[in-house]
Amino acid sequence: MDSRDIPTAGWQRVVHFTDERAGLDAIISIHDATLGPGCGGCRIYPYENFEAALEDVKNLSRGMTFKNALGGIPFGGGKAVIIADPKTDKTPELLRAFGAAVDSLGGLYYTAEDSGVTEGDMETIRSVTPYAAGVDKGGIGGNPSPFTARGVWRGVQAAARYKLGVSSLKGLHISILGVGAVGMELARLIHEEGGRLTVADVNPAAVEEARQRFGADAVSPEDAITVDADIFSPCALGGSINVDTVEKLRAKIIAGAANNQLKTPDMGVRLLERGILYAPDYVINAAGVISVGLEILDRWSEVDMTWRIDKIGDTLMEIFDRAERENRTTGEVADELALEVIARGRKAA
Ligand code: NAD
Repeated sequence: MDSRDIPTAGWQRVVHFTDERAGLDAIISIHDATLGPGCGGCRIYPYENFEAALEDVKNLSRGMTFKNALGGIPFGGGKAVIIADPKTDKTPELLRAFGAAVDSLGGLYYTAEDSGVTEGDMETIRSVTPYAAGVDKGGIGGNPSPFTARGVWRGVQAAARYKLGVSSLKGLHISILGVGAVGMELARLIHEEGGRLTVADVNPAAVEEARQRFGADAVSPEDAITVDADIFSPCALGGSINVDTVEKLRAKIIAGAANNQLKTPDMGVRLLERGILYAPDYVINAAGVISVGLEILDRWSEVDMTWRIDKIGDTLMEIFDRAERENRTTGEVADELALEVIARGRKAA
């Protein structure tokens, strides 16, 4: 295994790991460790090139710093990406080599599932390092996706309450882009509450499953963003709100699981100008990493998780309210709240 530090201003540590024999080409990024070790998932994705992977892992790890701070867990921001196709390149050797990479950082970074990584994969990674979570220990913790979905559902409800003045999602039309681990479970929760669903995914099998199970309408990914729904819920990869799509949005609310939903920060301003309520991604999708954090701390319990998931709705309401009163973007207000938490942590240290 070869490792090379990539000095990056504003990031605590960014390390490139390669292991030719195992086919590993991975980057681990620790953005800020003021509140504790970097904690965040590992994504396996066939990035076009190294620069794209580096950009993604840096942005994602920075998002984790803010997410963990507002999620109320004593961890900093960390993230990992493996440049590979999870459908064809994922082998036990690759996963073990990644585990060795995580281990070599000696606890500066804790990993867990993200896109392309299953709970079974995490078990393989955990066989070579203790710094891996998201593994079920007899009903404790485990795959974070169902928790993330529940937190997003609570966030969608809070946004609907704030913007539309409704007490439930019954009768509302929600368009979900990406019905994977999180999006599918979110669809189930919304369907059970009586919401109407439109879904899109590049995986036709996932779309078919949502059609069969929830009576969802199926559209193309482009149309999922612009369909005349009450709420648009991005649950695929990042960047779905960009210069091309922001003017075409017809939903009044954006509330979904994907990380880095806004392609550029100015998208938040444009959404504010257009009167579209945006639930900041790292606030609404925090439940998964909260579960992972409690699992690492050995403090996981069903009661605590439920309380923390419900609290995501309250935090969002506070952000919506402050943003409206001060005529600022919700993203800006969320960042400010997170920075306050980190500053308090720095003082206490
Ligand atoms: P996943 O890989 O299980 O699901 C993603 C789905 O999006 C897949 O079905 C995939 O086919 C689809 N997709 C990918 N590109 C697409 C495109 N261009 N158009 C339409 N569909 C596309 O991943 P997941 O775990 O469900 O995570 C979804 C998003 O939520 C990711 O951005 C992830 O980073 C974020 N997130 C996940 C968690 C978690 O606990 N899993 C936590 C926080 C944030």
